[in-house]
Amino acid sequence: MHEAVLWEPAGEGRVRCALCAHRCLIAPDGRGVCGVRENRGGTLYSLVYGRLVSQALDPIEKKPLFHFLPGSLALSVATVGCNLRCDFCQNHAISQYPREHRGGIPGEPIAPEEVVRGAKGAGAPTIAYTYTEPTVFFETCRDVGVRAREQGIRNAFVTNGYMTGEALDDARGWLDAANVDLKAFSDDFYRRYCGGSLQPVLDAIKRMTELGLWVEVTTLVIPGRNDSDEELGWIAQFLAGISPDLPWHVSRFVPSYLVHDVPPTPVATLRRAREIGREVGLRFVYLGNVPGEGEDTACPSCGKTVIRREGFRVVENQLADGRCPGCGEVVAGVWS
Ligand code: SF4
Repeated sequence: MHEAVLWEPAGEGRVRCALCAHRCLIAPDGRGVCGVRENRGGTLYSLVYGRLVSQALDPIEKKPLFHFLPGSLALSVATVGCNLRCDFCQNHAISQYPREHRGGIPGEPIAPEEVVRGAKGAGAPTIAYTYTEPTVFFETCRDVGVRAREQGIRNAFVTNGYMTGEALDDARGWLDAANVDLKAFSDDFYRRYCGGSLQPVLDAIKRMTELGLWVEVTTLVIPGRNDSDEELGWIAQFLAGISPDLPWHVSRFVPSYLVHDVPPTPVATLRRAREIGREVGLRFVYLGNVPGEGEDTACPSCGKTVIRREGFRVVENQLADGRCPGCGEVVAGVWS
């Protein structure tokens, strides 16, 4: 057990957690919505501190981060737990573990230094906090992240964005990049299918860019739920309003977890989403989960293909100091 960050006493032995947008009021011996933070004796503790259940070396493209050190590796780590409960979750076995196993918290403790050593030894310039929701294992991210920075290793969140401004401000010294899921542009979607709400996610995306993080956004397009032209247009307009250089990954849904009565997303729908994104001015829209299509980076000025990808593999990167070799245009991203 490890004392949590960002909480305060709330009277009568209760505590208020300020890490994510639920802002849970937790009674003595109770846990927050995420199931991994517990009030013991009027102090909030993280039950997952250092207890990694996944550690893997992934291409950074798999996060997906396409404009952040392309072709490099990310040591990817996770504990169990999530502050949302999306019925289409692709990692539910670990994200929903405590809920589905009577509060059980698996994972052998590992010291932050050991995680950093693992990244260094593997030649990974980034540690990615991913697979489940890094917000709910924030203390681990922070202790690893600070040490990683000292060793010249960067840190990236793959997150649902359902976090508070306080949490992001806390991370400003060590967090470098994020891929944020923007699952829909309707509060009803977030409430019905995820157990959350929309506005905190929008706020987090804005705040991350204000803090100078490199941000990319992913939308899993689910037939009949968030695939209307109108809704895709709202998402695209919101992102373009932040920056036309913000990459948007529109990703293909395949049936998973509790959702098996919805067919996989037609590729035509994703192509339409890409058109909608381009029409509102987004310069980089990628297709996800569609092997062989929509994964290359083109210069937004002359259209030349500057990075070619096959799956999660970069097969050619022609950028020189972040510039297009054809016309010299600066392509937005973190390239070295
Ligand atoms: S991280 Fe979120 S869900 Fe978990 S206890 Fe804190 S406010 Fe509640």
